[in-house]
Amino acid sequence: MCGIIGYIGNEEATELLLNGLEKLEYRGYDSAGLAVFDGRNLKVAKSKGRLKVLREVLKNNGGLKGKAGIGHTRWATHGKPSDENSHPHVSTLRKFAVVHNGIIENYLSIKNFLISKGKKFSSETDTEVIAQLLEYYDNGNTLDTVVKVLNDIKGSYAIGIIYEDNPEEIIAAKKDNPLIIGIGENENFITSDVTAIVSKTKNIVRLKDSEIAVIKSDDVIIYDMNKNFVKKEIKVIDWNIDSAEKCGYDHFMLKEIMEQPKAVKDTICSKIKENEIFFDKFLFSKEYLEKINKIFIIACGSAYHVGYVGKYLFEKLFKKPVEVDIASEFRYRDPIVDKNSLVILISQSGETADTLAALRKSKQLGARTLSIVNVIGSSIATESDDVFHTRAGPEIAVATTKAYSAQLCAIYLLAIYFSRKLNTISLKKYNYFIKELIYLPEKISKVFNITEQIRNFSKNFYQAKNVFFIGRNLDYVVSLEGSLKLKEISYIHAEAYAAGELKHGTISLIENNTLIVATLTQKSLVGKTVSNIKEVKARGAIVLLVVTKEVLLKDEHNLKNICDFVFILPDICDEMSPSVSVVPLQLLSYYIALMRGCDIDKPRNLAKSVTVE
Ligand code: GLU
Repeated sequence: MCGIIGYIGNEEATELLLNGLEKLEYRGYDSAGLAVFDGRNLKVAKSKGRLKVLREVLKNNGGLKGKAGIGHTRWATHGKPSDENSHPHVSTLRKFAVVHNGIIENYLSIKNFLISKGKKFSSETDTEVIAQLLEYYDNGNTLDTVVKVLNDIKGSYAIGIIYEDNPEEIIAAKKDNPLIIGIGENENFITSDVTAIVSKTKNIVRLKDSEIAVIKSDDVIIYDMNKNFVKKEIKVIDWNIDSAEKCGYDHFMLKEIMEQPKAVKDTICSKIKENEIFFDKFLFSKEYLEKINKIFIIACGSAYHVGYVGKYLFEKLFKKPVEVDIASEFRYRDPIVDKNSLVILISQSGETADTLAALRKSKQLGARTLSIVNVIGSSIATESDDVFHTRAGPEIAVATTKAYSAQLCAIYLLAIYFSRKLNTISLKKYNYFIKELIYLPEKISKVFNITEQIRNFSKNFYQAKNVFFIGRNLDYVVSLEGSLKLKEISYIHAEAYAAGELKHGTISLIENNTLIVATLTQKSLVGKTVSNIKEVKARGAIVLLVVTKEVLLKDEHNLKNICDFVFILPDICDEMSPSVSVVPLQLLSYYIALMRGCDIDKPRNLAKSVTVE
């Protein structure tokens, strides 16, 4: 799940590994560790907690000397966060050290077998079986041994291995978890995320499932499971180190909120040429689009909320039925998917385990799959039939903002493009939408004008115990995202409700001074939402209204008097309103979390790229 780094070269490994792990901190983790070959033995230092604890451990034990090593930040899946359960894991005779992201599903039977053969386990993790099994099979030929182990283990993994008898090399392998090799000059790296090595090299090779890399300081050889060479192309990445650092902001989250106009612009511009939407890589012909009987949109977390926007838009514009589902539910139910279904999968990292499984299931059922992902070359991008790459750039804060906004744009572009192809929207409407898309980045920027107002509001409400977010239609969908954001980073209990649904139960929770955030951008539903606002006001709630200028100007309901606070948004067409209305909700969560002293970029218990189910 978390971070892997490995180094082999002419420099001292420890500091390089620690620096790399620091870049991976954003992924969320509970412990960290290193194994370095010191010229004679494998030396390990690991500890529960943040990297600064590991640095302390290293200081106290005199540090690890050596020019080859592996490092890890762990997000526990098997066994609590503890020093013993931290990676790297070392085999009984201390021949092998292993770092691992993912889950070994059959670890228990392997563990029992190895115990019966005399292996002594020192952790509760699934990972340790890899180290012990390597030693069990060890016949002096590393590749041979690794292949045997990979044939035995089931589950998902990215692994880095160092082997005492062959300290001139690091071994890496992967299945359903990312692993990247960084190619330097007389030095090479492995990592689960390019962010960790981008300051060292921009030349990378992405391992594919069931490939094994043998990495020396001056050579990288990749094999398949039959021990045949695999020729791989070196890719040059265009991420610079700046994009992976805070650039003067206090938090990555705030930086990424502010980067949304750019993320949106880059994503939209990648698909609009001369006022037309175009897709150069995939072609959804009119004939194909006509045949679609149903669209499924599958995702997790915030991406699932984007899927909901997709449902409202595809149904409104494209006139086809849409089902939105959480990936972890979809993968274990019996959805009626067939060859005329289009399954859209949304994932920032492109590695979300449940979404990847949903993709594979959809393909098995014969559907055409289209993924919306932010990371080029990720598993979901590679395995789906078509890919829409969002252009949000690297997102570091665990709570998504700019990747969510870029995903929204992907949905708008697809909905508009499909609808025009089938003539379910007129040319006039199409041209209108294109204009709205082009102005979208500017409109998002305008929301930043009320940042100070949002910060002041937060000062008065950061101690709230419960917050309810209400709205109808797309305002409801944005409420879902606003409430998730607040929960994620401020740990305040929050709920989103379709405004009309409140009175069917939840209204019993409203009491004097309960904070309600009501979003109101959908012009045809103003009157309906106003009634719901009145219902909560009558029960003593404090209402913050997030509303477009246009709605407020035409207001026959006297909203300014009904509501306690008002955040005014620039005008926007109903269909793209989430892009604008989500921004004050993100900022609200940010400032509330800031005032509560929360760890905003790395909220407790959460991880960025959820590669376990
Ligand atoms: N399953 C392993 C463990 O619990 C690896 C978790 C991770 O990906 O960090 O230690």
